[in-house]
Amino acid sequence: MSRLLILSDLHANEEAFQAVLDFAEGRYDEMVVLGDLVDYGPSPNQVVNEIRRLGPACIKGNHDAAIVGEYSLENFRSEWQPVARWTMSQITESNRQFLKSLPLTLQKEGALFVHANLSDPLCGYILNDAAAAEQFHLARHPLNFFGHTHITIVYERTATGKLRHFVPDHLSELNIQSRSTYLINPGSVGQPRNDDPRACACLWDTERQTVTFFRVPYPFEITQKKIQAAGLPEVLARRLAFGR
Ligand code: ZN
Repeated sequence: MSRLLILSDLHANEEAFQAVLDFAEGRYDEMVVLGDLVDYGPSPNQVVNEIRRLGPACIKGNHDAAIVGEYSLENFRSEWQPVARWTMSQITESNRQFLKSLPLTLQKEGALFVHANLSDPLCGYILNDAAAAEQFHLARHPLNFFGHTHITIVYERTATGKLRHFVPDHLSELNIQSRSTYLINPGSVGQPRNDDPRACACLWDTERQTVTFFRVPYPFEITQKKIQAAGLPEVLARRLAFGR
């Protein structure tokens, strides 16, 4: 029996991360983190320190790769490049080595975990049904968890090849059908973009074969103040209040 807490895109937001941990306390046995621990947010070392203390299974996101010099900042929109440089200037050497050591994919309990998508685990996208359909051609696991878009969503391909998707809300439960294949995004902890400011994650119960999604409020005003104090772009603070 295993209950996995699956979360993604923490983006150096320690207040959101703490709220997710508080909500999930006592409801999981293991944690899997789908990458993008840092960048955008004001607390990169605090978040990486906490991840290292907790010791979950963890993969590398494109922002983590950028911060350790493995992914060019040119790939980011020009307004985000100085933010990544700020994160690079803040991150401690031992946290940098930790981010560098993370793998790009992970398999656990018969599921695949990636940051972005199956064909390009670091920086591909699954943004619509057409993109999901392409990914289903590559899928070798019944369950495939991904992040990167910061949008909570479930794509399902049924045994008859029909594709559908739904957007889970707080406490939405997915009953896994044994003959279906899934692409599941728990949403983002640290910079959700569901037009909802709450921090997102999910719990996969491998015995009951359910995935329960949750969204928890956190004191984003504190994160906003830290963003301002760090001199990071105002828009990074503002968007947290709207979840976009
Ligand atoms: Zn991200």
